[in-house]
Amino acid sequence: MPDYYELPELPGKKFFRCDRYNANLSTETCADNWRAGNHEGIESRLRCKVCPLGALHAGETAASMSPLKGMLICGRCHTGAARLIAKHLCVSCYNRQREYVIGRNAKGTRPTKLAPLDARRIRYMSGNSPKILALNLSVDTEELIITALRDSKDKVRFGFLGDIRGIPAQLRLW
Ligand SMILES: [Zn+2]
Repeated sequence: MPDYYELPELPGKKFFRCDRYNANLSTETCADNWRAGNHEGIESRLRCKVCPLGALHAGETAASMSPLKGMLICGRCHTGAARLIAKHLCVSCYNRQREYVIGRNAKGTRPTKLAPLDARRIRYMSGNSPKILALNLSVDTEELIITALRDSKDKVRFGFLGDIRGIPAQLRLW
């Protein structure tokens, strides 16, 4: 926690040193910045988006701290996309899926390079609520994990039983 201080000319306000902005901010300004980054998607406030201190000042400590939250990232190939089809897939993955489902690609032949798509489900906690995410077509479990992290407003916890085999090392930090 930072050291808070008050200014005699502004009684009742608490200030602190914000490392992300390298500036002295009031807790109210900080909370406004955090809300702007998280709820309004304001570009210049994106650095506040994953700041736990900002969430605390805004009174939303249960908010997800995942950097994936709300990002336009394809659940399947994990790349950023200008838009997501059905809020989930990039155009490329969507087209591949379509070919897989109808059993034929643009050339009219059977697609052979596609990984099989199967129904999968995972359980996780979103805040204090148990949730189940089920996808009828998914390429791996990671797709569901990325989806939960991206789409959940609240903090996400997965029910790993001490075993996170198969999850990329970076994900473990989230
Ligand atoms: Zn994709």
